[in-house]
Amino acid sequence: MIRSSAVAAPCVGGIEAGGAKFVCAVGTGPHDIRAETCFPTTSPDETVGRAVDFFRAHGVTAVGIASFGPLDLDASSPTAGFITDTPKPGWSRVDIAGAFRRALAVRVVLDTDVNGAALAESRWGAGVARDPLVYFTIGTGIGGGAIVGGRRLHGLIHPEMGHMRIPRDPADAFAGACPFHGDCLEGLAAGPAIRARRGLPGEALAVDDPVWALEARYLALGLVNVVTVLSPRRIVVGGGVMRQPSLLGRVREQVQAILAGYVRAPAVVDTIEEFIVPPALGERAGVLGALALAQERE
Ligand code: ZN
Repeated sequence: MIRSSAVAAPCVGGIEAGGAKFVCAVGTGPHDIRAETCFPTTSPDETVGRAVDFFRAHGVTAVGIASFGPLDLDASSPTAGFITDTPKPGWSRVDIAGAFRRALAVRVVLDTDVNGAALAESRWGAGVARDPLVYFTIGTGIGGGAIVGGRRLHGLIHPEMGHMRIPRDPADAFAGACPFHGDCLEGLAAGPAIRARRGLPGEALAVDDPVWALEARYLALGLVNVVTVLSPRRIVVGGGVMRQPSLLGRVREQVQAILAGYVRAPAVVDTIEEFIVPPALGERAGVLGALALAQERE
């Protein structure tokens, strides 16, 4: 897919590096995608090689990588730019940023998929003029990224919002699916937890299945923790689990119920449907996040 464009900004490359597939794009933003490709995530050598070939064919001045993790983003670390210990076979301790830097001789900016998506939404989507902004994805895992003061939130490592602890529902007999923590937020509320409780994936369950009330409660507990810690002006919630049509509304109701009138901001009290929103960029937030990363100054 190649479209002509009058935009003069330097053309950069972006990679949405997922555990199942890599989406690569060349362009400058949502209205200027000049080429795009997608292929399955196989071995690191093969997958990186395909992406390198694609960018070589189009010419880019920088590459952004919005990747599954965990990642080492500490510039002073000897393994900066590496994927660290991931359950994805073959991908632990892979120098993903360095591989592209060496092959293409361009600047490479690496961040988590959710920090990338948060950046894209803050630049072009639901997060414009909403700083701090938090972006959650609820899918096979749960991840959260944040833009604070115009910058992607890093620190000790990067946020791991999916692994926050939340109180279990006393009636919930499911032990949780996180291999590290059992019943953390991801362990209780990501797609595999829904499937394990019901024996079916979320998309096969009825809208009125009782699991959705529990799911909404757990997600809302996670969002309330983020509201109380980061005081975001907006929370974007995407991912496959959120395709359930009633879920977002239930999460909003539960966030208000759990806060119990304590955070008295109008966004929470009066206009919660504008406070907790789906991604304006939809499923494009990932690859657009990678393009936005490539345009970061650092
Ligand atoms: Zn966990």
